[in-house]
Amino acid sequence: MSEQFVPLIAPPESVSAPGLWFVFQGTQVLVRREEARAHLPVAVHVHEIGLEPLRHQYLGLYAGQHCFSCEIAADVPAPAGMTWAGLRSLFGALDDALFALVGRAIQVMDWDRSHQYCGRCGTPTVVKAGERARQCPSCGQTHYPRIAPAVMALVRKGDELLLARSPHFPAGMHSALAGFVEAGESLEQCVPREVKEEVGLEVTNLRYFSSQPWPFPHSLMIAFNCDYAGGEITPEPGEIEAAAWFWIDDLPVLPNRISIARRLIDATIAQIRSGWPVTI
Ligand SMILES: [Zn+2]
Repeated sequence: MSEQFVPLIAPPESVSAPGLWFVFQGTQVLVRREEARAHLPVAVHVHEIGLEPLRHQYLGLYAGQHCFSCEIAADVPAPAGMTWAGLRSLFGALDDALFALVGRAIQVMDWDRSHQYCGRCGTPTVVKAGERARQCPSCGQTHYPRIAPAVMALVRKGDELLLARSPHFPAGMHSALAGFVEAGESLEQCVPREVKEEVGLEVTNLRYFSSQPWPFPHSLMIAFNCDYAGGEITPEPGEIEAAAWFWIDDLPVLPNRISIARRLIDATIAQIRSGWPVTI
């Protein structure tokens, strides 16, 4: 997230300056397109552009501007000159910091929508002061935004990388392995389990790389490098369509730079080229 964004919970008591509105309809966000760029609506309240939100949420300050997210009912057309756009289509059309903020906004909006009633006892929930949380006035259960951690693992063997395809990937594209963390499992346990399940290999020397929130719908991808330690590639039926060792000078189609997978692969190649010790 950009240094320019300051997350805040309590909305300002009064707003007179126009703020930035992240207006969602399902998983689409309202923008004004201008050639290759996209712009988010700026208004004191989204009423000004003729929209009546179902709910709205305060997010914080971006570059000194108040930011709000809100949800619009399914059948409402976009105001004149604006359009509903899929999140992925905005990559590169918005500044990276704003694109990340759209991902944050949709998760807050989705959490608010999904926790209007207590999941434990069904009572309508209320906002919990001072936290991004809703609380049940009947049973006391607190409902926080859901975040599902997932690990990504790029396995290295000398100058080769293990890359694989899921059946749902675009044609030819290969990437690092990834999977969701199970309840009760540490990240250090999850990585070798996922690698073993998906391609049948043993790994060692787990090294944290970086993480990325992934709002489709509420994952946190935590990426690691690791080294090959044994086994033969055995793709998991149904999950992995193909998996192979790729020499770093002869790589297949890789994911878009929107994803942490691409940053992980690019950084690892740069490391190998710079003479990072070959462990196997
Ligand atoms: Zn309850």
